[in-house]
Amino acid sequence: MDKKSVLELVKRENVRFVRLQITDINGFLKNVEIPVKLLEKSLDEGVMFDGSSIDGFVRIEESDMYLIPDASTVALLPWKDDDEKTMRIICDVHLPNGEPFEGDPRYRLKKVVQRAKEMGFIAHAGPEPEFFLFKRDENSDRPIVGFMDRGSYFDMLPVDKGEETRKEIVISLEKMGFDIEAAHHEVAPSQHEIDFRYADILKTADNIQTFKWVVKTIALMNGLYATFMPKPFAQVNGSGMHIHLSLFENGKNAFYDPEKPYELSDVLLNFVGGIIKYAKELTIVTNPIINSYKRLVPGYEAPINISWALGNRSAMIRVPAARGQATRIEIRNPDPSCNPYLALAVLLEAGLRGIEEGILPPKPVGENIFKLNQTERKKRKIQNLPGNLNEALEYFSRSSLIKDVLGDHIYKKFLETKKKEWKEFMMHVTDWEKEKYLELY
Ligand code: GLN
Ligand code: MG
Ligand code: MG
Ligand code: MG
Repeated sequence: MDKKSVLELVKRENVRFVRLQITDINGFLKNVEIPVKLLEKSLDEGVMFDGSSIDGFVRIEESDMYLIPDASTVALLPWKDDDEKTMRIICDVHLPNGEPFEGDPRYRLKKVVQRAKEMGFIAHAGPEPEFFLFKRDENSDRPIVGFMDRGSYFDMLPVDKGEETRKEIVISLEKMGFDIEAAHHEVAPSQHEIDFRYADILKTADNIQTFKWVVKTIALMNGLYATFMPKPFAQVNGSGMHIHLSLFENGKNAFYDPEKPYELSDVLLNFVGGIIKYAKELTIVTNPIINSYKRLVPGYEAPINISWALGNRSAMIRVPAARGQATRIEIRNPDPSCNPYLALAVLLEAGLRGIEEGILPPKPVGENIFKLNQTERKKRKIQNLPGNLNEALEYFSRSSLIKDVLGDHIYKKFLETKKKEWKEFMMHVTDWEKEKYLELY
C-alpha cells in the first residue's frame, strides 16, 4: 500500500487512531498511538520519540529518534469497535540525520535480505508457532499455570478447550490479511499451533510479531492467557517455532534440482551446510532465554543435535517431502521467544555463507537420532546444540558472523543482557534444589 491508498483507507473506514509499532532487541513489540489527523504528517516526516526508554536502543544524551512508518504493513485491528477503529503500521527507526538506526532489529534483517538479493536470491520463510493457553484468575488477572484441557495432537471439542478461542484468533488474523493454513491442538495439554502461509522473509518477521500480539490479545478477550514461553512444564512438550526457509532465483526455487540426488540442489546443500557450520553460535539468537534450553532436551520432539535429515523429524533441519517450487528446509530448533527479525537474519546469513564458502553438509541422518547413543553419535560426528544459555553465550561471544549480522550496537547490548540473565539465574535457588537436597543433606 502506498501513502495515497493508506489515506483513502483511513477515510473510507473512518479510522480514528493509528498505532505505530517497532520491536526492541528482546523481541517485544512496542507501540505509540497517534490521532489519525497526524497520520499524513507522520507518513511524510516520521514521528519523533524517546529512544532511550526502549530496551537496547540509545543513551539518554542521544535519545531523539524517528519512527518511519512502512505503509506496506498497514492493517486495521479487527477487535476494535466502529467508533474507535484503529490502524497499525510497522515502522523503521531512523536517527535525526535520516540514517537508519543500526540497532533496529528490522533494519538488521533488511541488510541481510539486501545481501541475499545481491547474490541473486529472494528468501521465503514460513513459521509454525506453538503456544499454551491458560485460564486466568479473575481477581489477580494473572494466568493460572496449569492445564486447562487434556487434549493432544489434533484433538477436538470437548477435549480441546481452546477451540473457540483459537477460531477467534484465526478469524482476527484473516481479517488482518493473514493466509491461515492450519490451526490445531498440539501434542501437549493446553498447547496449540496456528500456521500461516510463507512470505518473503521480512514480511514473515513482521507477521510473527503481529501473530503473537493477536494471539495474546484475543486470548485475553476470552478470559484466557496465551504464552509463547518455550517450556512451561518439565516432562511435557515445549513450544517451538519451526522455520521453513527457501531461496528463489529468477522466480524459480533455487533449492530444487530434478537432476540431483533427492532432487535437492547444491544451493540447498550449501545453505544447510552453512547453518550446520554456524549452528552453535547462532543458537542464542534463535533460542534466547534460559528456559529455551529446557525445551532442547531428548524426548520431546525438539532437536538436541546439529544434524539434518530427509523427512526424519528428530534432526535439527529437515527437508519436507514437497519438491518443485515448494522445496524447502524446516529448521526445528528456534522457539517463539526469539526476536524474529534477528533470528531470521542470522539463519539467512549462515545459509548464504554456506553458499559463498561452498560448504557441504555432513551426510543426512536416516534413523531417529533420539535413539542413537553417545558413541554412535560421535562416530557420525553429530554434535550437540549448546546445552544452556551460558554455553550458547560463549559461542555467541566468539562469533564474527553474529557480530556482522547484529551490528556492534545490538551485539553489545545482547551480550550484556544475556550475561545478566545468566548471572541472575545462577544466583537463584530453585524449588527443585530445595526438594532434592534440603532433607537429604
Ligand atoms: N512442540 C515440539 C517442539 O518443541 C514440536 C512438535 C511438532 O510440531 N511436531 O518443537
Ligand atoms: Mg506443525
Ligand atoms: Mg507443531
Ligand atoms: Mg514442523
